[in-house]
Amino acid sequence: MRTVSEHQKVVAGLLTRPAPVQVPLEQAAGRALAADLVAARPLPAFDNSAMDGYAVRAEDVAGAGAEHPVVLPVAEDVPAGRVDGPPLAPGTAHRIMTGAPMPAGADAVVQVEATDGGTTTVTIRESREPGKHVRSAGEDVRAGDTALPAGVVLGSAQLGLVAALGEPTVAVVPPLRVLVLSTGSELVEPGQPLQHGQIHESNGIMLASAVRAAGADAEQLHFVADDVTAFHAALQPRLAEVDLVITSGGVSAGAYEVVKDALTGQGVEFVKVAMQPGMPQGAGRLDGVPVVTLPGNPVSSLVSFEVFLRPAIRSAMGLPPGRHVVRARLSEPLDSPAGRRQFRRGVLDRATGTVHAMGPPASHFLRWMATSNCLLDLPEDAVHLAEGTEVDAWLID
Ligand code: AMP
Ligand code: MG
Repeated sequence: MRTVSEHQKVVAGLLTRPAPVQVPLEQAAGRALAADLVAARPLPAFDNSAMDGYAVRAEDVAGAGAEHPVVLPVAEDVPAGRVDGPPLAPGTAHRIMTGAPMPAGADAVVQVEATDGGTTTVTIRESREPGKHVRSAGEDVRAGDTALPAGVVLGSAQLGLVAALGEPTVAVVPPLRVLVLSTGSELVEPGQPLQHGQIHESNGIMLASAVRAAGADAEQLHFVADDVTAFHAALQPRLAEVDLVITSGGVSAGAYEVVKDALTGQGVEFVKVAMQPGMPQGAGRLDGVPVVTLPGNPVSSLVSFEVFLRPAIRSAMGLPPGRHVVRARLSEPLDSPAGRRQFRRGVLDRATGTVHAMGPPASHFLRWMATSNCLLDLPEDAVHLAEGTEVDAWLID
């Protein structure tokens, strides 16, 4: 049997980083920056006022104090956005607003609170050092600086900076295009009535939404029956347009294993991985396109996605691959199969730092998974874990 980490490497090795694309900023959130962002202009672009107040020459207000204020004529009004402000004549003040350009000749701003707020003359009650309340050009970013290095994940602050530097678009690693295909002759669309022996299809939406939550694009193909011809007919026409195919079902040891039957000898290898749930796995390429085949039991499918595909997809897109993992103490004892790395659904109580397993290990208990907030990662050699044992909990909420 393959270990979990061996199969993780096989799956990760199938995916390659998509070529960078230049996208409008509103499409860039959550993507990795594909190239250094070099500032074409400084930020701020010009010296400007940090306060609402009066632009002055520091030497003109040098002696100002509460007992002996300085009175200056107000020669100009400079709101933010004024582009034709004249220079400041010695012995005068310009009323100026936050973000407005400093007039040539002014070297300090006295905020309005230290004045009488006058509009024809202004009475100034405090002196100011040169440079006071002035934001100087380039003090945040100089032209030619690497404002953000390649690889940074673009969140709100990063996108704000890109926009402030005047760039309408940015080079990012685009999302992988992923096809999701469920298999099973028992499957029926939710909303449709069931005959005895049929079930509602649930892996498709579950895996497609997991792909999207990982930051990639997903398309959910209509599920197919356990029929090799139908399987190929669904997949073949779409292969050329995608970066990854994920299937569910049809890979275990029974008969009618459609995915195994269709892909064995076609470049996809079917293996057993020493884990629970999720022992039967497959990975490889079909006509050059990466294919990862997950088991059909819903919990096995989603846990396998978490363990193998989510990190591989994210690292191919330059995003941090791993879930946040915390060490937490078991609030009750737990048994685990020898020789298999077990992923139990769990609930972490953040207040106490303890975890407990949600439901039994079997892989059809979807409700337990849907009400858990972590996966307990129990080592292969663990057999009996006493209450209080520290385990790794992958935070999946
Ligand atoms: P398989 O891996 O195809 O042998 O399926 C294992 C179990 O998972 C069976 O009980 C299937 O009915 C169930 N199963 C497989 N695919 C799906 C699916 N897409 N939605 C819900 N259950 C499924
Ligand atoms: Mg099946």
